[in-house]
Amino acid sequence: MSLLIRNGEIITATDRYSADIYCADETITRIGHDLDVPPDTPVIDAAGKWVVPGFIDPHVHIYLPFLGTYAKDTYETASRAALMGGTTTLIEMICPNKEQDLLETCAFWQEQAAGRSACDYTYHMGVPRFDPRVQAQLTEIIAQGIPSLKIFLAYKDLAHLSDAELYALLCFAKEAGVIVTGHCENADLIVALQQRLLQDGKTGPEWHYHSRPPAVEAAGTAHFLAFAQLTEATVYVVHLSCREALQATLRARQSGVRAYVETVLPHLVLDSTAAEQPDFEGAKYVMSPPLRPAPHQTALWNGLRQGFIHTVATDHAPFDFHGQKDRGRADFTQIPNGIPSLEERVKLLYTAGVCQDRIDVHTWINCASTQAARLFGLYPRKGTIQPGADADLVIFDPHHSSVISAATHAMNVDYSAYEGWPVKGRAETVTVRGKIVVEQGRYTGVPGHGRFLTRAPQTF
Ligand SMILES: [Zn+2]
Repeated sequence: MSLLIRNGEIITATDRYSADIYCADETITRIGHDLDVPPDTPVIDAAGKWVVPGFIDPHVHIYLPFLGTYAKDTYETASRAALMGGTTTLIEMICPNKEQDLLETCAFWQEQAAGRSACDYTYHMGVPRFDPRVQAQLTEIIAQGIPSLKIFLAYKDLAHLSDAELYALLCFAKEAGVIVTGHCENADLIVALQQRLLQDGKTGPEWHYHSRPPAVEAAGTAHFLAFAQLTEATVYVVHLSCREALQATLRARQSGVRAYVETVLPHLVLDSTAAEQPDFEGAKYVMSPPLRPAPHQTALWNGLRQGFIHTVATDHAPFDFHGQKDRGRADFTQIPNGIPSLEERVKLLYTAGVCQDRIDVHTWINCASTQAARLFGLYPRKGTIQPGADADLVIFDPHHSSVISAATHAMNVDYSAYEGWPVKGRAETVTVRGKIVVEQGRYTGVPGHGRFLTRAPQTF
């Protein structure tokens, strides 16, 4: 399998230049002008287009039980949606609850993807409790090629770690050379605020925000970072959504804490008024942490531009409005959490970020691809364009215009949080290890082409 991409403008997190790219056997082998290639090599003419590294979404949920129901996507539908949006690698959260065996859960999650995914994928391993048996199992899971963990400070009875467990886990992670990602909200405060709101008859989706205000997230973030400071573990705050939590990460980083920060697309482009819409419409916009008032978005964009926020993920978790979100009509705590965004991340980040001059084109690629590859042990196999890297390439048309709609999206969910939004840019042609999986905007991927990416522990 070989491929020549001619006449494109190559853009990475650091460089911008015109050259041709030759791919052979799943890999970029040569970059240059007037390349001498075998006569029967398939050619893509990328004149007038950008050629950028395949994008990486470092925080998605595909198989996901939540309050007695399941997120709608399968690996077939999710990988298709990802590729249509230019995302060629997914990092999914494996989410065992406190009762489940970690090795069994890890194997079960991998079965959901094997043979079904059209794009490459790997995992963060959820750790809902910590003891010597869990430590032994994590050692095995890390050896299987999953050297990144996920902990929750929220979700009190399901996944929340005690302080003693958190301390011991971070000591272990430091020793093992693995990064620990954390959902940072104070679990007890959430429960107390939820109970109070419900007692006062405040049951609609607009009250979800008030059960998890910025102070709750800032408290969780500062807590996580204090433990990171004491243990010298490398940590990664997932879906940071507000100014107060960002300030907590800045203070910690200034005192030497090895902390990295992710925000997610919904928090950059949607604000809390979306969840205040009448007739339960707001339920479409319920996720945790909740959407914030608009000034927080400015803080997040500034953080991205200045390099204080490292990655933009989605926290993709697709639940239908009809039949799933509406389980919480009488009680907002029963609304399945999530704003499906997997397909839209790259182009909305381009539209709202690059086109609005909030971030430059290199920052766009860096935060949506390169940084995730670096932090999670995929670089330079993924996240950049250079000889030896996997031929995961996006031929991006920066001038294309379209309108988002649930009627045309590939995600298996019955609504779009961005319905009717005009967008700029399109992943016109996409390759995964040299195979064309989107051609001129048309999906040509194959379930099972995607591969589980094993990764090794690293020093940070
Ligand atoms: Zn998540």
